[in-house]
Amino acid sequence: MNTPHIDHPRRVERLIAGQATSDGAGVKLTRVLTHDLQRRLDPYLMLDAFGSDDPDDYIAGFPDHPHRGFETITYMLAGRMLHRDSAGNEGLLEGGGVQWMNAGRGVIHSEIPQQQDGRMEGFQLWLNLSARDKMSAPWYRDFKADELPRFVTAAGVAVTVIAGESHGVGGAVTRDVTAPLFLDVHLVAGSRFAQPLPAGHNAFVYVYRGAVAIAGQSVTAQRMAILANDASTDGVVIEAEGDARMLLIAGQPLGEPIAQHGPFVMNTQQEIAQAVADFRAGRLGEASGRLQR
Ligand code: FE
Repeated sequence: MNTPHIDHPRRVERLIAGQATSDGAGVKLTRVLTHDLQRRLDPYLMLDAFGSDDPDDYIAGFPDHPHRGFETITYMLAGRMLHRDSAGNEGLLEGGGVQWMNAGRGVIHSEIPQQQDGRMEGFQLWLNLSARDKMSAPWYRDFKADELPRFVTAAGVAVTVIAGESHGVGGAVTRDVTAPLFLDVHLVAGSRFAQPLPAGHNAFVYVYRGAVAIAGQSVTAQRMAILANDASTDGVVIEAEGDARMLLIAGQPLGEPIAQHGPFVMNTQQEIAQAVADFRAGRLGEASGRLQR
């Protein structure tokens, strides 16, 4: 494990509270990364946080729905979610597990909770695909908690590397064009964590337990901090204000036009119209018939 040194840490540009909403068949969630932040946080399109002890908030799940043109990353902290697609693939996502799905040219799937009571908590992140990859063959990978790379720093910071690389530890997933970094970072009181970030990459932190300080700015639970892209910076330094848990997410912006209609994210309105037509004609399900594990 390599301990990085950051000379010029990023500052917090803006704090975001997210918007309470519901999606699917009435799942209550907080949309942290909303539509109006898609350009600022390119290549990321959406981050939803869900967490409830009340089954009425989640039990109906997300029945059959399509996706085209981007990737979805689902990270479960607690609870169990069964996913099924139109090609007959299925997998059970449990606490600490990740599903990484490239929707590519088309997937129709459902995401349904597999519990009648107890806590359901997690995140879904949407990562855009470049124009040349939007119509690629769909695939997905499921990772159980113990299959995800993990390390603990000398300061006692426990890090799960879902994507990218941290302290010399490679993540479960590597993607070349958008170069996503996706870390779950658990800090103990008084500890600090440093992570190099290319200045041009867009980056944000979402704190889900406790509070942290970034360049002197306090970031409390259920807040997203957008990190500034000042050209002179070489990373981020996070200091725990008590025990804290947070996601650190970064990636290389695509700089391409974004055209979104619900679960379809393409570059032009014409491509959106094509996606809707393909879905209505049953051609998205055919695409997921070639979904590869
Ligand atoms: Fe979905």
